Amino acid sequence: MRRCFIFDYDDTIANFPLYNSLVFRLPFRVLPPIGGLLPGAYQVLDLVRSRKDRLHMLTMNMLMDEDTKWNKMDHVGISRWFDRRNVTMVRRKTPETMLSICKGISKDQCFMVGNSLKHDILPALEAGINAIYIPRPKWMRIFPGRLPDSDRLIILKDIRELIEIYDRI
Ligand SMILES: [Mg+2]
Repeated sequence: MRRCFIFDYDDTIANFPLYNSLVFRLPFRVLPPIGGLLPGAYQVLDLVRSRKDRLHMLTMNMLMDEDTKWNKMDHVGISRWFDRRNVTMVRRKTPETMLSICKGISKDQCFMVGNSLKHDILPALEAGINAIYIPRPKWMRIFPGRLPDSDRLIILKDIRELIEIYDRI
């Protein structure tokens, strides 16, 4: 195992996070879940798997019990790559959690992939691992906030770009 890739879930590999959180929290299924994996996420996750790099998901869960969050994630088909062994649900993403996921792999070979500067990118840089920032919703690309100055930060427009750069990073 050469490298470690940690993916955020909401708005990094799947869309409509808030709507679907609502749908899966309702006691009765009165609203249908919508959306699914973002275009290219399937190929990216397959690529990590095929290279035998460590694949992990780190997701925040403030609103739901764990089973409900699993139902929400299963809806988009994540069980192809993830089960309870390689998913970590937390109330807050911290550098310590990221480092524990990366255990056994050198920091420069570890990558946190996410759409949130605050929750994904800053803790990853603080942990000393690499961060792949894919701003979303798209207006975040126009007003990205104050980007940290780091040579461990990679910014992509779309998760599909990860396929092109995978062997160069
Ligand atoms: Mg997210």
